[in-house]
Amino acid sequence: MPNYKIAIVGAGPAGYFTAQAFQKAQNEEFTFSIDMIERLPTPWGLVRSGVAPDHPKIKSVSKVFEKIAQEDSFRLFANVELGKDVSLKDLRENYDAVVLATGSATGRKLGIKGEDLPNCISAADFVPWYNAHPDFKDVSVDLNTDTAVVIGAGNVAMDVARMLALDPTELDLTDTAEHALKIFKTSKIRKVIICGRRGPEHAAFTAPELRDLSKLEHTDVYIDQVQIDQANLRVDKIGEVEKDLRNNLEAMRLIAEQSKKGVERKLEINFLAAPLEIQGSTKVEKIVFAINEVKNGKVSSTDKTFSIKAGLIVTAIGYDAVEYPGVKIENGRIANIAGHVEHNIYVTGWAKRAPVGVIGTNKSDSADVVDLIINSLKEPKNSAGIEALLKSGHKVIDQVGWEKINASEVISGELTGKPRIKEVDWKRLIRLGTS
Ligand code: NAP
Repeated sequence: MPNYKIAIVGAGPAGYFTAQAFQKAQNEEFTFSIDMIERLPTPWGLVRSGVAPDHPKIKSVSKVFEKIAQEDSFRLFANVELGKDVSLKDLRENYDAVVLATGSATGRKLGIKGEDLPNCISAADFVPWYNAHPDFKDVSVDLNTDTAVVIGAGNVAMDVARMLALDPTELDLTDTAEHALKIFKTSKIRKVIICGRRGPEHAAFTAPELRDLSKLEHTDVYIDQVQIDQANLRVDKIGEVEKDLRNNLEAMRLIAEQSKKGVERKLEINFLAAPLEIQGSTKVEKIVFAINEVKNGKVSSTDKTFSIKAGLIVTAIGYDAVEYPGVKIENGRIANIAGHVEHNIYVTGWAKRAPVGVIGTNKSDSADVVDLIINSLKEPKNSAGIEALLKSGHKVIDQVGWEKINASEVISGELTGKPRIKEVDWKRLIRLGTS
């Protein structure tokens, strides 16, 4: 019976759901041997380094990943970097199909003056910093200011704003990076303002995340009722609109109407504010916005501006796929047609479709790509797997190695009631995973 060798690059949700789709597709006619290659010493991608620590339920999908990893058809090769430890060409020649599931990790830029000032930080740096990603442990974050502005009206902006606005004791029983928790505990920030450039009806937040805001115990959340009423009027004029939009507006209306606790920590969501310029001498001090308006369904800027004094600005305006040798980036994605890149190379997840959708979106997306691959499989290649491609002595972290890291982190957390304390040091991670 033919057995096809599959390389999946990237051990995030899209990678695991691809592996799962291959496992499910096996039958009496063919089987698959799946090698998952990951640059970091640890798998789970954004479930480990993206999902906000105060949303642990979302991380429970890692149980599905671990089940996939227990199948005989699956092997993990972590601490193996595509383009450095192994080339795309080598993978292409040695595997029947290569699936790139490398996500989108480069934060998009605003392209405005002052963006490079210290303490204007991209969510692409800030989120992995508080999530103990080993490459971001040294990001310089200064929370010694009373006001922070978060740019963008999506769920990442919401995660970032919540992390900044909540009382840090609410993070005590989470897996927030220890270095970040220490800084959050000394934070002087009492007001966090999310600024979206379009109207409430255009916001990319999802209703469950909006509704979660009212659960913050020590923070009052504000949305201007007038902005929501005007958005509702505009939407009513359109007539029939998607249920998700109605749900979003309803969730925002409830926030606007909700009675406030009168606490000192505040999170405000502001719309129709397009960033124009960031000002400051040695670090960010102020951000200037153009006031936008919505006319006949179109958003345009007015000649009015306003500014906010803020000592921290986080931009959460989306991501682009990371470039590495052998792939072409087009519009922030790996250039592809319905998931096919070229030859036997495919792409899935955010790297394929741009950073949209929640973790579960990757399931159907990856299943489609696996169908496409199966339909184009020919005779299986008789070639060596990845072991033959790596330099001798290369320290691979396999599934057993990862389980050692995982167990060590979970045990460290148990003492303090946390789900885990993440190891942030590359060398220690490799030592733990290869001992
Ligand atoms: P997103 O949902 O695409 O939101 C990006 C936001 O940035 C939009 O409001 C966009 O406004 C704004 N933006 C883009 N360029 C801008 C500019 N130059 N100036 C001002 N604003 C700008 O992206 P995301 O928040 O990074 O989230 C990525 C995906 O992950 C989404 O699908 C999200 O739902 C998902 N996610 C889910 C969760 C969860 O379920 N808990 C958590 C985090 C992320 P325009 O619309 O005007 O372009």
